[in-house]
Amino acid sequence: MKWSTSEAVMLARNSCASCHGEGLRLIRKNTYRPCNCVLRGVFRACYARFRHCVTKEKHMSRISLEYHRGGRDSRVCYVRRDEDYIADFCLVSRRHLDDFENKIFRYHFLLGADWRLCCRQLRIDRGAFFHAVYRIEQRLGRVFKELQPYPLYPVEDYFGNRIPREVESRVLTLPAPAAVRPPLRRTA
Ligand SMILES: [Zn+2]
Repeated sequence: MKWSTSEAVMLARNSCASCHGEGLRLIRKNTYRPCNCVLRGVFRACYARFRHCVTKEKHMSRISLEYHRGGRDSRVCYVRRDEDYIADFCLVSRRHLDDFENKIFRYHFLLGADWRLCCRQLRIDRGAFFHAVYRIEQRLGRVFKELQPYPLYPVEDYFGNRIPREVESRVLTLPAPAAVRPPLRRTA
């Protein structure tokens, strides 16, 4: 997947020793790769939205009407976007992490345990814990951005209208009703 320069710059850290705030790193001629600070930025943006969805009042969760394309079974239906996002965030993360990383992800990111508690529970030192956290953030940052067909990042796009323009015009342009003709008077 191609990463845009503007998006990478926006997410990059100015203090990053690898990219110096540029976001993309040249790995070979004309081939750029997002810096790890950018990947971590993607993860943190998605994680912030996840926390917002989980902690906000349930009555604020909204139901929206969306178009779903599934071959012949295309249809418009109601969805709960917040709940979908929470489920996607957890399931995609679980699928892309190994057992050890899954434990850290669950304890630290989902249950909110700090590094001391995680280290004691997993019997690891502080360095191993933070290395694992960085690794998780980088891997999931890339996955959230490159996930198909609906990436979790940018978060605004996930929660926005997913209907492609050509489909939208087809769905919203209803056929004109047939002209109603008054019955003709019968002649004897
Ligand atoms: Zn960087």
